[in-house]
Amino acid sequence: MTDEKAQTQEFKLDPDCELRFEVESKNEKVTLELKSGLAEVFGTELVKGKKYEFIAGAKVAVFTWQGCTVELVGKTDVSYVAKETPMGLYLNCHAAMERLREAAEKEDTRGPITMVVGPCDVGKSTLCRLLLNYAVRMGRRPIFVDLDVGQGHIAIPGTVGALLVERPSNVVDGFSQQAPLVFHFGHKTPQANVALYNLLVTRLAEVCSDRLQANKKARVSGIVINTCGWVKGDGYKLLTHAAQAFEVDAILVLDQERLYNELVRDMPDFVKVVFLPKSGGVVERSQAQRTEARDQGVREYFYGSRTPLYPHSFEVKWSEARLYKIGAPVLPASCMPLGMKAEDNLTKLVAVTPGPNLLHHLLSVSFADSPEDDVVQTNVAGFVCVTNVDVDRQTFTVLSPQPRPLPNTVLLLSDIQFMDSH
Ligand code: ATP
Repeated sequence: MTDEKAQTQEFKLDPDCELRFEVESKNEKVTLELKSGLAEVFGTELVKGKKYEFIAGAKVAVFTWQGCTVELVGKTDVSYVAKETPMGLYLNCHAAMERLREAAEKEDTRGPITMVVGPCDVGKSTLCRLLLNYAVRMGRRPIFVDLDVGQGHIAIPGTVGALLVERPSNVVDGFSQQAPLVFHFGHKTPQANVALYNLLVTRLAEVCSDRLQANKKARVSGIVINTCGWVKGDGYKLLTHAAQAFEVDAILVLDQERLYNELVRDMPDFVKVVFLPKSGGVVERSQAQRTEARDQGVREYFYGSRTPLYPHSFEVKWSEARLYKIGAPVLPASCMPLGMKAEDNLTKLVAVTPGPNLLHHLLSVSFADSPEDDVVQTNVAGFVCVTNVDVDRQTFTVLSPQPRPLPNTVLLLSDIQFMDSH
């Protein structure tokens, strides 16, 4: 039997200090409680006396500007207090963005568009979350754009998306996923189809720009953009393309001086490029942990996290599915019809014949009614996962957040698979 008491740890934090802890063991739960003082988790204030429950995979920092006492109950794999953090520098960035918002408000112009870049595991997503939280706590309504198709925080892996942030992120679950704008990419790295990735980034930038036009509060608040950790060679080109598409005002470069220098060299003068150190608390993740994080994202989409969701499961006839994927193999230029570039094939809609190859794959449910529409550049309503394929009966079974029938719209096949173990 475990001794409850032995698993209770109390920490007294001085001002500007941070308690970092990780929960690794499966089925382990750790409860965090603020006993006195003030503290925040990635920019969201903790409520005194409230119990926040974290499960395996959680890597958390409880930061305090004023000093506080917190308690952890449960088995943590790591827990320590750090005195050195870059939080002061991050707060300065927020303050600079806030000044731009004040100016935008007065002159009825657009607020700051800020892109966060850096290699893998430097805390890009965390910095975005912090800046967005500080902004909403000041009464702003910024747009969060996530271009990280592998470890993004909007919808599920294999997509890019945008979210209007109206309240601070939940301490445990992150930002509320109500009504995100999502586009299907279908792969876990942009490398798999650079032409499509750039096309979607351009499209997302257009839609966000329209939303800013239509909503003064969002316009003044601006946009915070999270990016992929692929920063070399073609990956770097994707970043400069995104900067251009979104017409960014500032790029925050985490950790890598080389990337910082390249961007200073290549960006026009009106783009402010700022170097920021990464936090010593950011935890490096192995390939296996990244895969698990992706699975976890999909699992939460179907089954929920804190509040459980009950997805439906039903059969679809092959003959009734309007199944497509984006991108055909690139042909040599000599085989292309006149007037078409080899690259065009990468963003083409291609019909997919249902079969055993669908098993475990995710399908995006497009808002497009027909393949004649511009499906590639149309956002998606949600996702289903193929859990069984019956060749004899020519049907497949899907796991779906909505009951049957599947909407009579175009379905887009994703490379990404999810094994439903429920
Ligand atoms: P990716 O390369 O996947 O895009 P990233 O650069 O966006 O990663 P994050 O996802 O922000 O990095 O951070 C990696 C992990 O480190 C996350 O689980 C996050 O919760 C954790 N983390 C970030 N900052 C801290 C901190 N100060 N203390 C403890 N854990 C932290």
